[in-house]
Amino acid sequence: MILPIVLYGNPVLRVKCQPVTQVTDEIRKLAADMMETMHDARGVGLAAPQVAVPIQMAIIEVPANDESVTVLRVNGVDKTLAETQPIIFLNPKLVLDNTKATGQEGCLSIPHLRYDVRRAGVVTVTYQTLEGETVTMEADGLLGRAFQHEIDHLNGILFTDRLSAASKLGAQRKLKRLVQEWKEEGWTSAQQTRQGDEDEDGE
Ligand SMILES: [Zn+2]
Repeated sequence: MILPIVLYGNPVLRVKCQPVTQVTDEIRKLAADMMETMHDARGVGLAAPQVAVPIQMAIIEVPANDESVTVLRVNGVDKTLAETQPIIFLNPKLVLDNTKATGQEGCLSIPHLRYDVRRAGVVTVTYQTLEGETVTMEADGLLGRAFQHEIDHLNGILFTDRLSAASKLGAQRKLKRLVQEWKEEGWTSAQQTRQGDEDEDGE
């Protein structure tokens, strides 16, 4: 089932999400619905608060090409994206390395806005799977960036919070205008109803 994606301005996007203590049928169904919703929106990642459920669960599926990742290890073993994705992760713990990488980001909750964001180059994420396993994944590139973007969502942080001082002012102005447009079009911040959007690579 495709779920409505909440938009910038909805308070659920600012909540520190609760850990998932038990994987119930409801959680599994939510994960499946989130996957369908992300594919429908042509996104590469989606966090539970973006569908108005403030729990520590998110999904990622980046394009399976060389540009997406050069380092990818699962529990210390080299893996390919095809072997690893889609990734459904719960209760993540994130460790950043000291390198930095700048790349463009968008967000399914903030349609039409894309900005460069400087983030760690390589991440190590330890998380639980729906099957109750604990996995440690090391990743760089778009996958490493997606992990950081989605885990930010679980902590109530949006990519627009992480812009350089130079782009922040312009972004704030654009965000204000977007929220105004949504109001005029009769959208509420509670749901995104526009279909066929061109928000490829949103997260
Ligand atoms: Zn996002």
